[in-house]
Amino acid sequence: MSYTALYRKYRPTKFSEIYGQDHIIKTLKNQITSSRVGHAYLFNGGRGTGKTSTAKIWARAINCLNPQDGEPCNECEICKAAINGSLTDIVEMDAASNNGVDDIRLIREEVNFLPTLAKYRVYIIDEVHMLSTGAFNALLKTLEEPPEHVKFILATTEVQKLPATILSRCQRFDFKRIPTSEIISRLNVIVKDSKIEITENAVKTIAILAEGGMRDAISILERCLQENSNEINEDTVKELVGIPKLEYVSKLTKEIFSCNTIEALKAVNEIVNEGKDLENFIWEIIKYIKDILMYKCTNYLELYTEAEISTISELSKNISKERLFSLINDLSELESKIKYSSQKAILVEATIVKLSNVGAHDPAQEKSIVGKTDSRPSQTKSNPVRVGGEESVRPSQTKPVRAHNSVQEETESVGARVLRRPFSNVSIANNR
Ligand SMILES: [Zn+2]
Repeated sequence: MSYTALYRKYRPTKFSEIYGQDHIIKTLKNQITSSRVGHAYLFNGGRGTGKTSTAKIWARAINCLNPQDGEPCNECEICKAAINGSLTDIVEMDAASNNGVDDIRLIREEVNFLPTLAKYRVYIIDEVHMLSTGAFNALLKTLEEPPEHVKFILATTEVQKLPATILSRCQRFDFKRIPTSEIISRLNVIVKDSKIEITENAVKTIAILAEGGMRDAISILERCLQENSNEINEDTVKELVGIPKLEYVSKLTKEIFSCNTIEALKAVNEIVNEGKDLENFIWEIIKYIKDILMYKCTNYLELYTEAEISTISELSKNISKERLFSLINDLSELESKIKYSSQKAILVEATIVKLSNVGAHDPAQEKSIVGKTDSRPSQTKSNPVRVGGEESVRPSQTKPVRAHNSVQEETESVGARVLRRPFSNVSIANNR
């Protein structure tokens, strides 16, 4: 049996199959049914949000011999020729590779001729921000007054790079990131239709990883299929994209919470030795700590098994919300810093040492150590810690408590110095 790539097989062929862009589809269909179609459109939005698919469907819909409520029939002579790529009246151009004046000049010459078969000749120019300045100027002249039989759809992921003169001549549509729930629904249709064995959590993980791009979601699913003959589970997906398993994430988090610096560093080493991507790893820890915080506040979490939730529940008991906020803050800074560092492992280790020491001062943890359950000191309420802000001043920072383990002794002076500016990893690294 010949194999068709999932992305090709499940590429939308009608407006009704475009997910997450209802606002745009509704307007486009209305224009088509009421014969108020414009001559130039700009589709702006992230990768895989459906810009090119929508453009192709639109090009068929306005040319279709038997359109149904604004949708192309996909059966008539024109639709069929457009689908199999033999219709020369629908021209797709990738501006990433055809970005010169000559490429646009060719279009300018062509537009004077009538379409061969269809009613309109449609130019779909992908990644239009890649055009050279000269090409933009050449395009501008055509966009100003195109002949009746010519339509343009310009697609871009970087609308800010387009000249205002181009923007002002197009009807602009902004494609949103596709909501995770819609990606999940689409993946479930594909999974069912193609009889793919995959767990519910794996589908959710793929949808989250795709970050609003349907194409990315389907490619991840495709890669999982190619590299795995058994049922696809969450670990298969994470393994494939280089994300560490939850047990690693959970272990390191636990060691940080319980200020066990040596074990925390061992956990980091395991990840480094396994060749996992440290950026992904840190991101996973941030997400995990965020989920612990969510659980602490709401007693509810999606996307986890019962056993995992029970671990999260245990972890959430002996830690204050303030400390969780502060950890998220510090780790987010680490994440943005290691992107540009050639010494990722050193930065990560240094931060882990710092974070697993600071924890000794967490009021909630101190209470739990002497056998009391989670109750926060009232002073923290009047002194909230903001995530993402600069004011991650912890209640106990002004009175550092003397550390009790050896690694803490070594780094405490550094730790105390960097508390106010959480991200001073470089100075810690230099001191090592
Ligand atoms: Zn048709």
